[in-house]
Amino acid sequence: MLGRKTEGSVLCTSCGVLVGVNDPTCYNCGRRNPGLWGFAPVLRALGNDLGFVNIVTAGTIIMYVLSLVMSREGSQISHSPNSVALQILGASGAVPVFGRHWWWTVLTAGWLHGNPIHIFFNVMWIRQLGPEIAHMYGAGRMIIIYTVAGIVGFTVSSLFGLLGIPFFGAEFITVGASASIFGFLGALVHYGKRTGSSHARQAGLQYALFMGIMGFVFSGVDNGAHLGGFIGGYIASAIMDPLKPERVDHIAAAIGCLVVTFAAIVYTVISALPYIR
Ligand SMILES: [Zn+2]
Repeated sequence: MLGRKTEGSVLCTSCGVLVGVNDPTCYNCGRRNPGLWGFAPVLRALGNDLGFVNIVTAGTIIMYVLSLVMSREGSQISHSPNSVALQILGASGAVPVFGRHWWWTVLTAGWLHGNPIHIFFNVMWIRQLGPEIAHMYGAGRMIIIYTVAGIVGFTVSSLFGLLGIPFFGAEFITVGASASIFGFLGALVHYGKRTGSSHARQAGLQYALFMGIMGFVFSGVDNGAHLGGFIGGYIASAIMDPLKPERVDHIAAAIGCLVVTFAAIVYTVISALPYIR
């Protein structure tokens, strides 16, 4: 339950030393409000139970069902959402990002999927890799990597689409969690390099190579999002450094990522309303 701690001591959200919950600054690292108004223990508990993997899984499935309902014709529900529904719910790509200046769709497109196989494999990969990444970085940094990789991935594919680069650009719209999944792989490769774990580095490279090549075998795959997502995940890992322990700050930032993403979805729906009459 959400319980706020109002007295006693808590661990500083930045450096982890014990501080008074109401201390204005941490005596050790100088951070202001080190107890986050007493919510630090709640956030730490949230981060530890890996609830974030389930949040991402559930959110992805809810958005898929919603897109199917919005695509229905009469009482018929198809297994693939139409492009109107996907655009209303926040598909990215050259048309939304550069045509309409809906730049925030780089946050939302990762939560949408085009067909049952697409969502099945992506959810499977999230559930496979998410706990591994959370084990290495903590659940907070996992969500940050997931979010950053989606942003970089969809920015790259939308830009390549605008430039008309074959096989890599999304000239119209693009959706799917695979940019973020490639972000997990990029983070895995960086983790291996930083910690000396050749197992992690090889696993990340092999998965990325295998899935990356499959993207060229099948048509309609957003290879630009794969490439950008991998780079985004690698850079996010390098900035946050897996050798340092996760901080409550990361968990707070992760919740911020989810809140901003949700707000972006709501804002896209509002922006799309004039287009759907
Ligand atoms: Zn501190």
